[in-house]
Amino acid sequence: MSTTATTDTLAKARIAVLGYGSQGRAHALNLKDSGLDVVIGLRPNGPTWSKAVADGFHVVEAAEAVRGADLVAVLTPDMVQPTLYKESIEPNIKAGAALLFAHGFNVHFKQIEPRSDIDVILVAPKGPGALVRSEYERGRGVPCVYAVHQDKTGHAEEKAKAYAAGIGGARAMLIKTDFKEETETDLFGEQAVLCGGASELVIKGFETLVEAGYQPEIAYYEVLHELKLIVDLFYEGGITRMLQFVSETAQYGDYVSGPRVVDSATKERMKGVLKDIQDGTFARNWIAEYNAGLPNYKKLKQADLDHPIEQVGAKLRARMPWLQTGAKSEPAPLK
Ligand code: NAD
Ligand code: MG
Ligand code: MG
Ligand code: MG
Ligand code: MG
Repeated sequence: MSTTATTDTLAKARIAVLGYGSQGRAHALNLKDSGLDVVIGLRPNGPTWSKAVADGFHVVEAAEAVRGADLVAVLTPDMVQPTLYKESIEPNIKAGAALLFAHGFNVHFKQIEPRSDIDVILVAPKGPGALVRSEYERGRGVPCVYAVHQDKTGHAEEKAKAYAAGIGGARAMLIKTDFKEETETDLFGEQAVLCGGASELVIKGFETLVEAGYQPEIAYYEVLHELKLIVDLFYEGGITRMLQFVSETAQYGDYVSGPRVVDSATKERMKGVLKDIQDGTFARNWIAEYNAGLPNYKKLKQADLDHPIEQVGAKLRARMPWLQTGAKSEPAPLK
């Protein structure tokens, strides 16, 4: 663990940031504000080109950005990275330059096998891009994990730490990992708990109340809206702080009913999710789904968007426009 990294190693480096979405925009702005030299590489006429220009960046095609760069940060969606690597990076990246990822997926699952004459590193913030930017602007930072896959120059680790410092991560915490650990834990976290687990818990709770005849508006506030308050307490002080702030009645209900809902059978199924990640089943399925044009992905996504909790939620959130003023993400469409 380290919190003392500085940007010194990259002081004279040119950094090419490929992709200007959630992570790309946040990294590029933070690196620039940390005094580093940043150029943005995008597809000509891509959806975020004008946004990067409006933010004051020099924007060129990916291949051109790679050509002059000492460090190339690959911040496009994971599924487009293998083609981007083959077409724009591999033929153009300088020997001795660093290739940086924010998620280990493509290297770990061998979708990208980088040239042997470059450094290959990882800096993954443990938070969404909008937070990486807003925390930096407040003088704070989002913790990052970093790793070295290939150290050609003998300076790969220093470069990763300097980049993490440049995006503000060193203000919080840098933890050394490897591509395998970052990839597997990141996928597990988002599938079992953060995105998949949390949203299913909310949806099943909403359905249980509504099917029992309670008003959907009240069900929405109970199982979705109020979750933020609980998660903020987790974030600030863990489960300890949450228990300090809720009533004795809520605590007793937590102790006796929580384990009835999420029980050892749930944990066994979490282990199944982890096993599919570790043995490559999830990666294989996801790559096949992407290459088939996302048929199931689109169907499943539409079902979430059409769920009654989203209908009632949109109506209730429209009454609270101030909810929209916090850290916002502006997701880029997939494909
Ligand atoms: P995103 O979908 O928000 O951004 C995509 C960007 O890449 C856009 O600027 C888009 O125009 C551009 N792009 C798409 N195809 C391109 C191509 N062929 N050539 C050049 N540019 C192209 O992506 P993201 O969510 O920021 O993810 C980027 C990386 O960061 C991924 O490896 C992801 O796993 C990782 N990551 C994301 C988060 C997150 O919160 N979103 C957190 C940690 C790590
Ligand atoms: Mg993650
Ligand atoms: Mg992830
Ligand atoms: Mg879901
Ligand atoms: Mg209550």
